[in-house]
Amino acid sequence: MVEIKHSSPREAFELLMSGNQRFVAGTPEHPNQDAARRAEVAPAQRPFAVLFGCSDSRLAAEIIFDRGLGDLFVVRTAGHVAGSEVLGSVEYGVGVLGSPLVVVLGHDTCGAVAAACAALDEGAVPDGYIRDVVERVTPSVIAARAAGRGQADEILAEHVSRTVDLLLDRSRLLAERVNAGQSAVIGLCYRLADGNMRLVAARGLDVPVPTN
Ligand SMILES: [Zn+2]
Repeated sequence: MVEIKHSSPREAFELLMSGNQRFVAGTPEHPNQDAARRAEVAPAQRPFAVLFGCSDSRLAAEIIFDRGLGDLFVVRTAGHVAGSEVLGSVEYGVGVLGSPLVVVLGHDTCGAVAAACAALDEGAVPDGYIRDVVERVTPSVIAARAAGRGQADEILAEHVSRTVDLLLDRSRLLAERVNAGQSAVIGLCYRLADGNMRLVAARGLDVPVPTN
């Protein structure tokens, strides 16, 4: 079997963002989506990134990053809330599959974030397990507002950034990989209308994070 060398965190980051730029520009190449690629990756996967994002149907990972089979190890939950299964899945992607990059992906007008705001403002706490999702988003809303960052895009950025921190706080494996320079974790906010990504957090990757 051919040994597949893994890219560095920076190479993975650039590969991912260049795919998003093609998607934004309306010039996707749909790489790695043909029968040859299907056969190539059938024996083993070596995804270059772990993508942990919101489940929103408009956030289809391989489409918005213009990638294909075997490229992304994808974990998605409503509001990208992370419990033990998510942490285990991220650790599998990084520790077993060797992905050099973990991406937390949130988006504007997220229903989970809106529900957390409504729970705080109106006491509108949902029933069932939706409540569990909302309760895991609520600390981000409280923290953003306490810091005077209560606009919708600021709350989203806070929630994405806190999710990045949560992964690193909870997962020793991930923190060790990042400290060793083998992996990086970034947080991106996606805009539904135009497909653009805004970088709001970067750990283990020397890239400028715009402040707003
Ligand atoms: Zn969402």
